Amino acid sequence: MRSHTASQIVLQSVGERVTLAGWVDRRRHHGGVAFVDLRDHTGVVQVVMEPQRFEESVLLRREYCIQVHGVIRRRPEGAENPAMSSGMVEMDVEELTILSPSEELPFPIEDRTDAEELLRLEYRYLDLRRPRMARNLAARSLALRTVRRTLEDMAFWEVETPTLIRSTPEGARDLLVPSRHNPGAFYALPQSPQIYKQLLMVAGVDRYYQMCRCYRDEDFRADRQLEFTQIDLEGAFWDQDDVLAAVEKVVMAVASVLRPDQEIPVPLPRLTYGEAMARYGTDKPDVRFGMQIQDLSDVFAGTGFRAFANILGSGGVVRGINAGQIQMSRARADALIAKARQWGAGGLVWMVVRPQAPPRSPVAKFLSQVELDSLVERMGGTPGDVLLLVADREKTAAQTLGRLRLDLGTPDDPDSLEFLWVVDFPMFEEKDGEITFLHHPFTSPTDVEQMVSRPLESVARSYDLVLNGVELGSGSVRIHDPDTQRRVFEIMGIPEEEAEERFGWFIKALRYGAPPHAGFAVGFDRLVAVLRGVSSIREIIPFPKTQTGAEPLSSSPAAVDREQLAELGIAVAPRRARAKPSG
Ligand code: ASP
Repeated sequence: MRSHTASQIVLQSVGERVTLAGWVDRRRHHGGVAFVDLRDHTGVVQVVMEPQRFEESVLLRREYCIQVHGVIRRRPEGAENPAMSSGMVEMDVEELTILSPSEELPFPIEDRTDAEELLRLEYRYLDLRRPRMARNLAARSLALRTVRRTLEDMAFWEVETPTLIRSTPEGARDLLVPSRHNPGAFYALPQSPQIYKQLLMVAGVDRYYQMCRCYRDEDFRADRQLEFTQIDLEGAFWDQDDVLAAVEKVVMAVASVLRPDQEIPVPLPRLTYGEAMARYGTDKPDVRFGMQIQDLSDVFAGTGFRAFANILGSGGVVRGINAGQIQMSRARADALIAKARQWGAGGLVWMVVRPQAPPRSPVAKFLSQVELDSLVERMGGTPGDVLLLVADREKTAAQTLGRLRLDLGTPDDPDSLEFLWVVDFPMFEEKDGEITFLHHPFTSPTDVEQMVSRPLESVARSYDLVLNGVELGSGSVRIHDPDTQRRVFEIMGIPEEEAEERFGWFIKALRYGAPPHAGFAVGFDRLVAVLRGVSSIREIIPFPKTQTGAEPLSSSPAAVDREQLAELGIAVAPRRARAKPSG
């Protein structure tokens, strides 16, 4: 139906007779002549309908789908648009066919839009016509192709794993699918193919990958989706360094096609979890700017300032950041203190460094000259710098300062790509008085003895990949010894019977010569989103859900027929029976 796409129409096309097909992007009239911007998936060409050939009344509205046939000619002088690849030329239309008319649009098809996201999602097929969204889709496709090519070249096999499975524990709730043949029994949708990829290692697959869909019913935090795509990897006879090297290769290949402007030196820098928490107060530091957290506990070791002395005496810390030359009004100080409190800290001490004078601060009078001098020196303070200090339990101080740092800092170069590895995560953490895993329960500890005797101090052989403060993915060296695997469940307080019932089938496989193995999973949509510089993965996923899990296009989730429920042996409790999809 067409001889060319829009991007193929250039200055050299002058004189050619071509057929184009696409959508009416814009239409203008000048003295009876109709100028139409014809858009397809590659770009825009101006097509011109002279009054002698077409009546002015030719009915073309925005987003009509049309086909035009005619000759490419140079635009008259002064009418050129060097910003468009076809900007020097236009088509003199000889034939026009309206392939399909369009109704009035709910929002204009333009990159800049103030349409509500809900409306954009309801008319996603129109939203995706916006050139920026089309570029996102194209970038996603290029990234997919690059991942597959890179991994295939590295002798990985793409193996599909089932989506109707028994639950895999990854820390979220399962999405369940009832079984019609076994009323009352449910499949879970995989939170990840974790157990299956490990079974593939036992099965002798040497290098596995899969572009896989994962499903996690999480409380809706910003920018999470119920379903998302991962680049899932696993390798036999692999250790941590093998995983990091392979993931670097894949991710750098994607970065180099989506962001050819950036040179990224490999191997990527590594921080331990302990270092990341101490310097940045988070396990996913944004290192596009400094403002690192400094420990000041030794500076105040003998302080007479009661507030600090009490905290230090009870095992806490004093830490601070140099927020640089920011304005520090009373109101600003109050706002920062309120934020610190909201994030769990008992308070926040602020100081403004002055030349030849002690810092300006409500607490300066409680601190000795030596303390103030060493504090300013430790923080690299120069006149005008604002220093912010938190005295608290270590975790609270770190996290509060980490959030303040993100709040107050700005990247030196917002376009730069700062990848890094965070390694040596703890095996477990305490949540509501219970011990639970940090990564997932199949992660190997560095030291089994220590894990058993002091689980909360135990270090895992796990690692995260971080880009510009965003966690792109996680992985670990796995447990391949059934006994260690049992112990992990024990430490997590899962009774033996329950562990047997839920995971016995997997532990059994480890008894048949399981090779040492390790792996990783990269959040694919998130990787593409950060590389494209968009703030939400919903801009990258073709048909995403809203933040409350709704799909406004088809209005799902939706109630189902009573017969369907009866077949599945399901009765919905009355309170919930009238499920209506919500925005
Ligand atoms: N299954 C893990 C996840 O989805 C990744 C891994 O350990 O390979 O986060």
